Amino acid sequence: MRRFTDPAHQAVADLTAFYARLDRAHAGFSCPARAACCQLSRTGREPYLWAIEWLLLSRRIGERGGRIPEARRDGGCRFLDSAGRRCTVYDVRPFGCRTFGCELAIGQTRALRETVRGFTRELTALAEAFDPADEGPRPLSRFFGEAGRPGKARP
Ligand code: SF4
Repeated sequence: MRRFTDPAHQAVADLTAFYARLDRAHAGFSCPARAACCQLSRTGREPYLWAIEWLLLSRRIGERGGRIPEARRDGGCRFLDSAGRRCTVYDVRPFGCRTFGCELAIGQTRALRETVRGFTRELTALAEAFDPADEGPRPLSRFFGEAGRPGKARP
């Protein structure tokens, strides 16, 4: 695999390759694509992610002009489209949004549980290599809060 001298660039390349393998492992899975799991206030749950995963998302925000998506009035994920039906960052969505943990998922979710544990360990290793001081996965809303704070670097 190609190596980069810039650590952030390398982290993005490593995480992208990891997500591709994770997606291949979930190739037999699907969901009704109603964005039910993205209605974060309604479900009371939100994705938890490592800083390395936010790095990838923040780069996408940067590519789109650097404007942090506004909080939605309906409490859905800020990355949803205006209709609240489609993820606008689907190809760079975090680990938790890729593993079909929702009860609407179609596929052998029980059989995959052990595989997901292995991927979780791999992601932890990637995240800690990127930032040894990373305190661990945090809710997406916290990253949005920090990114929107005055004085904080924008994507
Ligand atoms: S990042 Fe995308 S898939 Fe994940 S909760 Fe937000 S809109 Fe849904």
